[in-house]
Amino acid sequence: MSDARVGLVIEDDHDIRELVRTVLTQAGFEVTVASSGAEGVLIAKTLNPDVITLDLGLPDIDGFEVSRQIREFSDAYIVMLTARTEELDTLIGLESGADDYLTKPFRPRELRARIAAMMRRPRSGADTEASTVEAAEGNGHSERGNYSHNGLELSYASRTVVVDGKEMNLTRTEFELLHALLEAGRTVRTKADLVRRLRDEDYDVGSYISEADERSVEVHMGNLRKKLGDSPQQPRWLQTVRGVGYRLAPSEH
Ligand code: CA
Repeated sequence: MSDARVGLVIEDDHDIRELVRTVLTQAGFEVTVASSGAEGVLIAKTLNPDVITLDLGLPDIDGFEVSRQIREFSDAYIVMLTARTEELDTLIGLESGADDYLTKPFRPRELRARIAAMMRRPRSGADTEASTVEAAEGNGHSERGNYSHNGLELSYASRTVVVDGKEMNLTRTEFELLHALLEAGRTVRTKADLVRRLRDEDYDVGSYISEADERSVEVHMGNLRKKLGDSPQQPRWLQTVRGVGYRLAPSEH
């Protein structure tokens, strides 16, 4: 297996495509580009990329549909690039399986930071890589291992979640959120904490968190809840602490 990480840029605007290609190349990716949605899906199938940046406004299929199609066979980290700022669009984008989104125009530094945070997380099934990442991390939340709670088993090293004996198919973002709650136990994690967790920052750095960032955590939590078949009223795992955030539901006995 090659060590090089593979990036795919799906974007019809030439200038933006080249800008994103440069950012990913500088981050150490082998980059392939596609200028339409159909081409992007096809290349994603062939290359099995680690990261995909996806333009929302493509000439053939829109980015939401492209993301849904790619999600059927890939757990790549999908960053949606959108020129629209309406909150609704953001939310639909997340429900289509995207892990993250950036509104155009974005600063290359911003995209670089998100890609860097993603790269510090281990890839699915990559055990040896996971332990290297853990050893190198040392930033306060590297207590990563195996968790078992109310019939749910999570293994950080193998990136698997099993519920009542059935393996779940979670996006990286959903996996990280679930892991953060299991790790915190009955301690409440605020939405801002969880945004920082997804950026791979320490919980107390005080970096700027927007309302849209917090809403995106709510949407990811909603999607996670649906996949796990958890109930907001009588949660087995994900308990909402109204107006604050989330914590792990109590143990069943
Ligand atoms: Ca476009």
